[in-house]
Amino acid sequence: MNIIPLFIPHAGCKTRCIFCNEYSATGLPNFPEFEKLYDVAVKYHGYFKDKTNVEIAFYGGTFTGLPIEVMAAYLEFSMRFIREGYAKAIRFSTSPEEITSEKLSLLSRYPISLIEVGVQSFDKDVLKASRRPHDVNDVYNATKLLKSFDMPFGMHLMTGLPYDTEEKDLISAIEVAQLGASTCRIHPAVVLKGTALEEMYLRGEYKPQSLENALEITWKMYVILTSKGIKVNRMGLCLYGDTVKEVVAGPYHPAFGDLAKSKVALEILRLISSKNSSRKLLLPDNAKYRQFFTGYKRYVVDNLQKEGITLEFSKKDSLAVDIDKYIDDLCERVTANMGVFR
Ligand code: SF4
Repeated sequence: MNIIPLFIPHAGCKTRCIFCNEYSATGLPNFPEFEKLYDVAVKYHGYFKDKTNVEIAFYGGTFTGLPIEVMAAYLEFSMRFIREGYAKAIRFSTSPEEITSEKLSLLSRYPISLIEVGVQSFDKDVLKASRRPHDVNDVYNATKLLKSFDMPFGMHLMTGLPYDTEEKDLISAIEVAQLGASTCRIHPAVVLKGTALEEMYLRGEYKPQSLENALEITWKMYVILTSKGIKVNRMGLCLYGDTVKEVVAGPYHPAFGDLAKSKVALEILRLISSKNSSRKLLLPDNAKYRQFFTGYKRYVVDNLQKEGITLEFSKKDSLAVDIDKYIDDLCERVTANMGVFR
């Protein structure tokens, strides 16, 4: 699947969340006109090897918060692109309180592949302190409506917002799983220039997570979601080109997702090592295992070594590891004391 991301910074947003500055995150000063969007989309399409499996995505704003005629204009713009054979479906991000029957009736006439609902947290204090435009009930209502229209939906969660805790983040991941989202994107709060969070940070009222802490929570959310069949389609904030310079503080890392997956691989190998009472692990020598269990820049191998565990890959006498089964085991451990999964 190739995605053409079209950024419409803050289009349709009625408020400004404390962590958000889509102008700085996307590098776009205003939201672009249709012709410019068309040119961007054609350019993107030219980069793809597989030109048959392409979708248009509207990100950076509250798509269903746009006046209905403007939303319809964006959808018609997308249909032009689809009719010309460049793409086959449309996806977008939006905020839960802007999902209504009227808007979903309009949307159901178009090939929508995914509606990504910006939830960020299922905790009321976190939502309020982050100046989100919705509360937890709006998320439940939106989910009900999306299901009644049979609309595929994903959710977006964040860690490290004011009043957030590890337990609240894990509960949010569990809620996403229980509500039946098909995908989830997770990113830690990063202090960006021009945001209220930056002002709070500069006044000493907000302390961002460390990279280590953000990763420690995110890998646990990842196993909860993955174990329940939810595709985690991205971990970590996505910043393009020079926009990295807009980061003031916080756990930004360009390979955040790879690092979080490396943590999962490390935890799996720790489990295997203690289960088998072995400090020497021999895994099958194939590309999938090598990539996953070596980790980002040998993260897994190096950390195991520090713990006195050696890892090798071999064609014979190696241990077949069912990664999915171990992810289920990790999920059980992570949620063991929380009394969850009703
Ligand atoms: S997080 Fe979403 S709803 Fe909040 S200001 Fe940014 S684009 Fe708008």
